[in-house]
Amino acid sequence: MRQLQLPAFEFTEKQKEFRRFVRSFLKEEKAKGTFETHADSWLSGYNAEFSKKLGQQGWIGITFPKKYGGQARSSIDRYIITEELLAIGAPVASHWFADRQTGPLLLKFGTDEQKDFFIPQIIKGECYFSIGLSEPNSGSDLASLKTSAKKVDGGWLVNGMKTWTSGAHHSHYMITLCRTAQLDPNKRHHGMSQLIVDLKSEGVSIRPIQYLKGEHHFNEVFLENVFVPDNRVVGKIGDGWSQGMTELAFERSGPERILSTFPLLETAINLLKEKRDHQGLMEASKLVSRMWYLRNMSAGIAALLEEKKDVNLAAALVKDLGTNFEQHVAEVIRLLLPTLPDKQSTDEYTRLLTESILHGPGFTLRGGTTEIMRGIVAKGVVYA
Ligand SMILES: Cc1cc2nc3c(=O)[nH]c(=O)nc-3n(C[C@H](O)[C@H](O)[C@H](O)COP(=O)(O)OP(=O)(O)OC[C@H]3O[C@@H](n4cnc5c(N)ncnc54)[C@H](O)[C@@H]3O)c2cc1C
Repeated sequence: MRQLQLPAFEFTEKQKEFRRFVRSFLKEEKAKGTFETHADSWLSGYNAEFSKKLGQQGWIGITFPKKYGGQARSSIDRYIITEELLAIGAPVASHWFADRQTGPLLLKFGTDEQKDFFIPQIIKGECYFSIGLSEPNSGSDLASLKTSAKKVDGGWLVNGMKTWTSGAHHSHYMITLCRTAQLDPNKRHHGMSQLIVDLKSEGVSIRPIQYLKGEHHFNEVFLENVFVPDNRVVGKIGDGWSQGMTELAFERSGPERILSTFPLLETAINLLKEKRDHQGLMEASKLVSRMWYLRNMSAGIAALLEEKKDVNLAAALVKDLGTNFEQHVAEVIRLLLPTLPDKQSTDEYTRLLTESILHGPGFTLRGGTTEIMRGIVAKGVVYA
């Protein structure tokens, strides 16, 4: 059986100082009323003005090359920013996928023209992307997707439907995985390509899928004869699957797989301290210690990613353990500090608890389900 070894990661003094700076900036912005704290803010907190502010700070695409306006800083600095944004529950959904996924994807596989056009806008926090993978009958088994692109003069005609598309109603573009060659049952991962679909194009319609309490976060996206010019193909035609998979470790092992309910945990601990509820604090401290080892694993993976090591197996493990943890936080806290859920409540604790409970079921689905993560871990540990 393969051993899973993750390095113990220590932040340097300079990195700690950077963290303090980011934290004090965010606290000031919150105090000024720029935003209020929400649970699960990375996927449902939209605030274009705040995204622009982060862009002005240089905190979007901080790892991107200087020639596009980035700072070429380490992914550990990005990790620090991400943790601080999540911890304070800041509204970062607008630019999240562009910063985390699309920027690195274009930098790796995009043409110079694509980089020159998209990367500076992403860095400024002014250009948002959605991820168009899932379809009504293709989620875990993504290779069965049906959305197709047919070659026409000067580009591609896209037809099909995407679903659960986070933020498509706010985004400018969608990285759309589609079939550009017929499915070959013996090579299921071949023949797919990534196209940048402009969501304002003719033939695109976006329909909301509402949460239980009416929130609008994700969508169905219908694509009917949508023309995508040749210069909006990412990388090579037919290589869409392998290109898309390269960023999965970043997607699965980041702090957003552990900290979606951190604002609830912190608020609850403060309340328990005020009440001098020692029994409650004992229970909450078990959550904190669990969070701590998950955080250490996630930071260890970030360090390995910085060295360009393959961490897919460890990332799947963190995704599974981390998302189950973030769900569990709400389950434990609601029993320690019972209150009636109310999304509109002016009481921050009640609002955070409500958001954590209502959004919780999605944590272990988005980005790959628990069962799929465990399948990856089982195969990786035993067969590798
Ligand atoms: C909040 C949220 C946001 C999302 N945002 C996006 C987005 O922006 N873009 C996007 O493309 N998608 C998005 N998704 C979709 C998400 O990626 C899919 O829901 C996920 O991949 C599962 O696919 P599915 O819903 O089709 O479920 P299915 O694949 O149909 O799975 C149903 C159940 O069967 C289990 N199962 C399936 N196959 C296996 C297997 N081989 N072994 C064991 N168990 C199995 C699954 O674990 C699950 O419990 C989002 C989902 C959520 C909840």
